Amino acid sequence: MKKLLQQLQQLEGKGYKGYKNIQGHYTFNDFNLAIDYVQGDPFASPSKIRIVIPHHRRKIDEANLESYHRKTAAEDVLARAVGKAVQSNTIQIKGSGKSGHLLFDSPGQEVLERSAVQVTTTSITVCLSVGLPANGRRINGKEAEKLFSQVIPAIIRNSIFSITEAEITAAVELADQQEAIRTAMRKNNWIAFIANGAILPRGSGVSQRPLTKAVPFQSPPENEVTIQLPHRKEPIRGMAVEQGITLIVGGGYHGKSTILEAIERGVYTHTKGDGREYVITDPDAVKIRAEDGRQITGVNISPFIQNLPHQQNTHFFSTENASGSTSQAANVMEALEAGATTLLIDEDTSATNFMIRDQRMQQLVKKEKEPITPFIDKIKQMRDQLGISIILVMGGSGDYFDVADSVIMMEAYIPYNVTAKAKEIMLNYPLEREEKAQTTFGEITNRQFDMQTLQTKKGNRSKTEAKGLSKILMGRTEIIFEQTEQLVDPSQTRMIAAIIQFLDRTNGLGQQTIYELLDTLEQQMNKDGLASFTPLENHHPGDIARPRRYEIAAVLNRMRTAKVSQK
Ligand code: ADP
Ligand code: MG
Repeated sequence: MKKLLQQLQQLEGKGYKGYKNIQGHYTFNDFNLAIDYVQGDPFASPSKIRIVIPHHRRKIDEANLESYHRKTAAEDVLARAVGKAVQSNTIQIKGSGKSGHLLFDSPGQEVLERSAVQVTTTSITVCLSVGLPANGRRINGKEAEKLFSQVIPAIIRNSIFSITEAEITAAVELADQQEAIRTAMRKNNWIAFIANGAILPRGSGVSQRPLTKAVPFQSPPENEVTIQLPHRKEPIRGMAVEQGITLIVGGGYHGKSTILEAIERGVYTHTKGDGREYVITDPDAVKIRAEDGRQITGVNISPFIQNLPHQQNTHFFSTENASGSTSQAANVMEALEAGATTLLIDEDTSATNFMIRDQRMQQLVKKEKEPITPFIDKIKQMRDQLGISIILVMGGSGDYFDVADSVIMMEAYIPYNVTAKAKEIMLNYPLEREEKAQTTFGEITNRQFDMQTLQTKKGNRSKTEAKGLSKILMGRTEIIFEQTEQLVDPSQTRMIAAIIQFLDRTNGLGQQTIYELLDTLEQQMNKDGLASFTPLENHHPGDIARPRRYEIAAVLNRMRTAKVSQK
């Protein structure tokens, strides 16, 4: 530490490039500091540092690290503590540009595996970005000294050194309970579980915090199950959604979309106080929606769409500007190709002509003239032949009563099981539309990307960079995935950008089908961690989080440079 402070004194008033000299490792009283990357000027993105706290300074109980879900939970609470400490730092660092800026990749409502804080059996590593202080374009050594001798130690003191083992254990115990629910779900073939008392609605359209005056969830008696959980006496009670076809109906504004959104997000673990801690979904559930304007490359959408005008090939369908129905068909086929086992669909975000076709329209537009086989005519085949479960919000058409295994009605935010009533109505008002007589679902065709898909060159440099949650700049093109709703954290987007760069470096894209590629990526994440995808010279991948395979696929499928072949 003395060495660093001396260096900073000597650098006082020198040109900003002089900061390059402080790159390296330093020993402080309570931790080791690594300055991995020094920014080129005061206005560039801040410099990257790591703070490594050895075990003998702050030991984490080994039991709290012993499995993936426990370790992720322990790292997550530590990251939340560091995030708070960074936010409440009051020591001002003066200077031009980004002088004194502190960036830390704080978790949101989800508990994701992320790189911001990493715990091993020997140390805790905290990754931060800091703006090295300047006066104009000259080094401000005094402020830099303050940064390293006061600000950073205070942040570590107020987070890693002040969080108690009891707080870590509490988060780990919640993670154990969430894991126990997942185990019970697998055993019983449930695809979703929503505990009584859960708070599903969010604060607002732009906030994932819970709504403050919400009606707590209460399961219909017919769907209520109990699960024995560790770390508490009383078993938990709530609604289990069984495999098969579940229809959610109800009047407008009665909470249908809200429950589906909670289920969509239930593929991730939520933090204590979120309201959805005990809302757990099949991890292979994928939200399907219409997404007109999207790129589609070589997807076999023929199970849903055939005989387009001008003999367009729907077995190898490509477009730069999909319609509502073709985009929704492609979204289904790509989800199945990637391995989805549950599909989640909301009428609000669906193409009507993809979902339903009534008797009168069947009379007017003859079968031969209508390219679309609506979802309603394929849904049974998906369930019976492919073993896919579907949760469908549909307040606007009773035609789905015939295919539903279970019908839930939302009324003033409370669900009721109306399956029997719906079946009764079905008998009294038989379906007048003709079911399209097709007996098989059709083929799910595997594809493989060609290597030339990855056009990461910008000038003579290769560049792939995440821009917020739903955009990645790849070379000269943009990949846009604003409607990929289950991508929830910009750190996941950064990870996907790192994966694309990795595939480019390792020529790894073109050697296997998309399904196999996703397997390979997941295995590497499991075995070598998220950081194994970032280049070695970047010691500090401090702002990435784990995405699911479905969101990785979604991004790859939206590359406008994609070239694919079918396997
Ligand atoms: P629907 O899809 O049935 O039209 P939404 O799910 O969009 O209805 O919900 C309508 C409104 O009700 C939203 O503003 C939502 O935040 C609110 N809401 C949903 N569930 C609850 C609840 N449990 N308690 C209070 N408000 C809720
Ligand atoms: Mg709705």
